[in-house]
Amino acid sequence: MENNALNFRSNELFLIAGPCAVESENQLRTILMNENRPRLIRGGIHKMRTNAKSFQGMGDEGMEIVKKMKQEIPFDFITEVTDARQIEALLPITSVFQVGARNMYNYELLKELSRYGRPVILKRAFSATISEWLGAAEYLFNLGEKNIILCERGVRSFDNKLRNLLDLGSVIYLKKNTPFKIIVDPSHSMGLTPYVADAAYAAVAAGADGLIVEVHPEPAVALSDGQQALNIPQFDEMVQKLHKLAPIF
Ligand code: PEP
Ligand code: MN
Repeated sequence: MENNALNFRSNELFLIAGPCAVESENQLRTILMNENRPRLIRGGIHKMRTNAKSFQGMGDEGMEIVKKMKQEIPFDFITEVTDARQIEALLPITSVFQVGARNMYNYELLKELSRYGRPVILKRAFSATISEWLGAAEYLFNLGEKNIILCERGVRSFDNKLRNLLDLGSVIYLKKNTPFKIIVDPSHSMGLTPYVADAAYAAVAAGADGLIVEVHPEPAVALSDGQQALNIPQFDEMVQKLHKLAPIF
């Protein structure tokens, strides 16, 4: 599928799914072989981990895996760009760039990304106000509003039972007051597998235009975020239920 086939203007629910991080050919192949897989597959190549000793992503090796798998089974790919120096290398394999929560305030990175005409998903920083988030989106202005997608991924709160506080109020507000598409990441919001699908349905009910969800063939051995990944049957079940709520792009 070509980049221009991705139409974020569609009124259908834009579903993105895949592993937190690309780990192996087999991992990606298993996800791609699933007939319920969405058009856009996520997978971290450069990871921004909170701890420097945690798995940092496969880097170049991960890019090679994605290239090879794209030849085997064509698919559109989204990955996080953590540094402007990665952009050129990622361009050939990336249909959409993801800017992570930790980089929402990295205005130089945003300015650089705004030069490439490729859609950008801008995640909300942990404690960003809606105004700060929209301020960051302004740096992508050159891409045109249709190529700027905001992603609510939960914010810090006083509570530690869940990973973050999923702010569906932001979805409702942004839908009414901005021209941007807004998607929700129920995985990083809730942080625990049993709650991810229900958060996804709630996001759709709140008016989200799409979802980005972490899926892993074997969450127990995932190198990052296994505790919040859906396995393939759990993903399939979520997709079946989503079909009842909205047509999926
Ligand atoms: C991710 O999507 O893999 C990720 C790191 O998310 P966030 O930037 O929202 O923490
Ligand atoms: Mn993750």
